[in-house]
Amino acid sequence: MIMRTEVPRRLTILGSTGSIGTNTLDVVRQLGGRDAFEIMALTGNGNIELLAEQARKFGARLAVTADENRYAALKDALSGSGIAVAAGVSGLDEAAGLDADWVMAAIVGTAGLAPTLRAARRGANIALANKECLVSAGELFLDAVSSGGGLLIPVDSEHSAIFQCLDKSQRHALERIILTASGGPFRACTREEMAGVTLQAARSHPNWSMGLKISVGSATMFNKAFEMIEAKHLFGVRPDQIEVVVHPQSVIHSMVGYVDGSVIAQLGVPDMRTAIGYALSYPVRSALDVERLDFAKLARLDFEAPDETRFPALRLARTALERGGLQGAVLNGAEEAAFAAFVAERIGFLDMADVVEAVMDQLAGLGSAGEIADVVQADAEARRRARDVVSKMAAA
Ligand code: NDP
Repeated sequence: MIMRTEVPRRLTILGSTGSIGTNTLDVVRQLGGRDAFEIMALTGNGNIELLAEQARKFGARLAVTADENRYAALKDALSGSGIAVAAGVSGLDEAAGLDADWVMAAIVGTAGLAPTLRAARRGANIALANKECLVSAGELFLDAVSSGGGLLIPVDSEHSAIFQCLDKSQRHALERIILTASGGPFRACTREEMAGVTLQAARSHPNWSMGLKISVGSATMFNKAFEMIEAKHLFGVRPDQIEVVVHPQSVIHSMVGYVDGSVIAQLGVPDMRTAIGYALSYPVRSALDVERLDFAKLARLDFEAPDETRFPALRLARTALERGGLQGAVLNGAEEAAFAAFVAERIGFLDMADVVEAVMDQLAGLGSAGEIADVVQADAEARRRARDVVSKMAAA
């Protein structure tokens, strides 16, 4: 593994205009701004105004919008700044290919796969927030990281917690990984109540402030399903070693259990800047101005078993893990299409899991991925089939 610790660290943020992206820039500011980080590239999609403002403020060398139709607007917004501008898939590729030591992978969805792979292959250290790289492309993504020689540091709070709790010298004694889940906004609702919920209700996470996709994923628990698959790849554990426990306060971010019965947990207030700061400062810890846990105020921590009847996503994740191969790509592609249909009000909240399960059953026989093209194809096929299932549901 390459360990680059020069200051300033050269950093590219893929998805700088999103929830993780803006939190990352706040961490950059807290850790010393331009004295500590040289920003190589920032990328966004639709939010040109914010992207241009960030690029100017942090002195980025390159600003990229993934949306080619917005190239002219970004160029205009950055005129006279000396900051290079690019757009589209080739623009993202250019951003990922710049010689940054660290790349924060924070694009939402499958769109993040190609640029993150590009950065991994050239040996960048990857701070990984984007889930699809591991859920859809698992082993192939890990191969890219290992052939590039960079580090892979998880940013998802659960995986950051596990990474922090793992005693690498006692790897043989690792028994289980316990992912905590808030249970989302419908933790205490009946299935009947969940059937009629709106997008507005589904996006209102009780503890975390996050982007739209992951907020709805927390409500369905598909987010936890993805995290189970991520955990398998990141920590090399068997599916039966991955447990999920509902913990409504989101204070314990996840835990590691050892063969002697010990369980090690990582705790903190629900604020993504801690996990982001840990990744960007690795291997040291840097001071951050985030709220501290007040145990007396907290008073109690609650736990309960997840209910897989109301949250079938967890069962579907286990099916995908057991089947292996391209099932992660199928699960992810189908879920993204089902999510889009829910946002467009074509299907109801509970229908999302039904769509995913139908597509997984149809594509259960898909084998393993030999190359990324196989992942892209499985993803496209899963989306196509999910749209068919949605059309039939909407017509019924
Ligand atoms: P957001 O929706 O807030 O931000 C997504 C980012 O991706 C924005 O910069 C957006 O640009 C950009 N983007 C959107 N569509 C495209 C596209 N087609 N091509 C390229 N870029 C695009 O998401 P989050 O920050 O919440 O999440 C980012 C990733 O991190 C997700 O995979 C999520 O699951 C993961 N994650 C997020 C956590 C959180 O707390 N938010 C926690 C753990 C993981 P623009 O805004 O300009 O349109």
